[in-house]
Amino acid sequence: MDELREQRHRIRSLMQYGAPENELEAAQDLLVIFRDDRIALMVLEEFYSYLPDAAEDWIKEVRLVARQHGVFLLAAVTSQDSYLYLVSSEGIEFHGSLLDGYLDNQLLGFFGFADSDSFKEAGQDPENFPLYQSLQGDIDVCPACHAGTGEVHELGCPVEVCPWCGGQLIGCSCRFEQLEQDQMVGEQDLLRFSELLNEKGRIAYSPEQRPSFADDGPGIVQQ
Ligand SMILES: [Zn+2]
Ligand SMILES: [Zn+2]
Repeated sequence: MDELREQRHRIRSLMQYGAPENELEAAQDLLVIFRDDRIALMVLEEFYSYLPDAAEDWIKEVRLVARQHGVFLLAAVTSQDSYLYLVSSEGIEFHGSLLDGYLDNQLLGFFGFADSDSFKEAGQDPENFPLYQSLQGDIDVCPACHAGTGEVHELGCPVEVCPWCGGQLIGCSCRFEQLEQDQMVGEQDLLRFSELLNEKGRIAYSPEQRPSFADDGPGIVQQ
């Protein structure tokens, strides 16, 4: 929680320099909307740290261009342009202007776009994409690893349900029984366990797995 507060603080200061004075208040509204949303806060911090056109500008809204597992392709719609950011809990990458619509083939494929032309065409109007909703409120997204409904959790996600006992996968002792040893040491064990898990069949995320504490406040739900 403190970490998020510090991040909002940094963004607020960056905005003083980055956003035009008469739009500062409107710019700050997004800080309130996304106050507990790490993904959106990363976009705000990245944008105001490295203003893409090196001129005063501000983000009016954030749109969800695509999402696959915990990886988001977001458009920061500003007063001048719309900028693409690839964001996950691992970090953030700037991908240029949405209007230019340049995305490498690997990413186009990953997000399921037919080809670069259709992506570019869709990008001509940011309103073709829905507004990005804060993750904490979206029941179709795992609050910890950001897997969508029907998608497999990131290994190690505290929300993942154990297919052997129905308990919390990182909390139960099935991993020791399955590996037939008392402890897990190193990557080898982890890989072997992940294979066993895939053979058994992993339980994908669904909204009823949301821990009740996820709604009680931020800070606990993130990894
Ligand atoms: Zn998860
Ligand atoms: Zn278990």
